[in-house]
Amino acid sequence: MAFLGTVTSLVAYADHDHPPRLLRGSKTFKQGLGVYATNFPVRLDTDVSLLHYPQKPLVKSFVYDTLNIHPVGQNMVVALMTYEGYNIEDAIIMNKGSVDRGLARSTYFRPYSATELRYAGSLKDDIGIPEKDVSGYRTEEMYKNLEDDGVVYPEADMKEDDVIIGKSSPPKFLSEARELAVKSRKETSESMRQGEDGVVDGVFVTTDREGDKIVHVRTRDERIPELGDKFSAPHGQKGIVGMIVPEEDIPFTNRGIKPDLIFNPHGIPSRMSMGYLLELLGGKVGGVRGKEIDGTPFSGEKLEDLEKDLKKYGFRYDGKETMYDPINGKRMKAKIFVGNMYYIKLKYMVANKIHARASGKVQLLTRQPIEGRARGGALRLGEMEQQALVAHGASLLLKERYDSDNVVIDVCQECGAIAVKNHMKNKIECPICSSDNTDIVEISYAFKLLLEELQGMHIFSTMSLKNKYGN
Ligand SMILES: [Zn+2]
Repeated sequence: MAFLGTVTSLVAYADHDHPPRLLRGSKTFKQGLGVYATNFPVRLDTDVSLLHYPQKPLVKSFVYDTLNIHPVGQNMVVALMTYEGYNIEDAIIMNKGSVDRGLARSTYFRPYSATELRYAGSLKDDIGIPEKDVSGYRTEEMYKNLEDDGVVYPEADMKEDDVIIGKSSPPKFLSEARELAVKSRKETSESMRQGEDGVVDGVFVTTDREGDKIVHVRTRDERIPELGDKFSAPHGQKGIVGMIVPEEDIPFTNRGIKPDLIFNPHGIPSRMSMGYLLELLGGKVGGVRGKEIDGTPFSGEKLEDLEKDLKKYGFRYDGKETMYDPINGKRMKAKIFVGNMYYIKLKYMVANKIHARASGKVQLLTRQPIEGRARGGALRLGEMEQQALVAHGASLLLKERYDSDNVVIDVCQECGAIAVKNHMKNKIECPICSSDNTDIVEISYAFKLLLEELQGMHIFSTMSLKNKYGN
């Protein structure tokens, strides 16, 4: 432990792994789901998940018990084989039967909060269902889960944009109040994040040091493993779920064992993570022996002893088994390596990442779409994506993608400056040379902005116009 470090020394048979891989692998421990704190029901943490059935590893190093580590994974039956190509490129196949029985199930928590602030002139925020005449009132439907005090009730089913804490605030400026008279208060409710569902898990009402009322609400969302969720073994073998296969289509051994997870054997030789294979074998021995295996780096149980034990319990010494394909009922030609492996569900789940948009908000300055999933932003079509589309000859698609901020301007044909409309003469003319010989040009707004910013630096740039037909 002195030279491996706390986290790395938790990896069973770490001395058989390639060091860079091992380092990467031990990092995945930190992203793993488990029970992060035993007082979680009374805590309000941001971005935390709870694994429903965490287990101690079957194969573990002595550090595990010495430090009394909270478990962060589950022991899964793993088969090293391919499956219809759906576990290509580090993807994993999961058994739907296991998933239905609660394998790798977790809950995601998110806290929301609102404070009843006091302002100058005895004005204050009001936590409650907003009156219908406040400016920015949403639809009645969105407030349907609020109780009379303006806060949701526990166990309420919440959908995207539903209001969690109803709140209205006084106007920020006095001038605003004078103009709006009755409609003076503003709607400032806390609502569910975009694209997120959940159930209200807990409501906490308290006051802060100044005596202002604070309302905290925590929502929970059950996360069943789905396509694209990230999993990892402690040896740097991470991958996402490529397919969840119905239990009846999962290959089985001659003892009737169906793996929970199918890992692609192509992931082993290039990574040289022999510790993975050893832990898999150790897990199998531990399973049949009914005892935990000591996999402490440099001093764990030797491979020979594991092999001897496997033989004693009636298995092949190398952990390989005859398997059958349930789809055609045939015995597979190759012997398949099956064992138990400690797998970690990582906190990166598709439910937090999934994002798509059609048209939507744009930036005020550049008129280009805004960034970021949480704000309903667009997906960037970068330089490389553009080149791929060029290679495919998809010119109309490219045109559509890149005119998100298009603008039509008039350009002087004589001097190349941007022309403006003269409303008094009711004609378009150049502000530099007063010529009315102009043409309309379609450019991106960002380019127009560039020309204007250059003008701001006293750099006058001109556009020379050419007809695409050559005259
Ligand atoms: Zn001009």
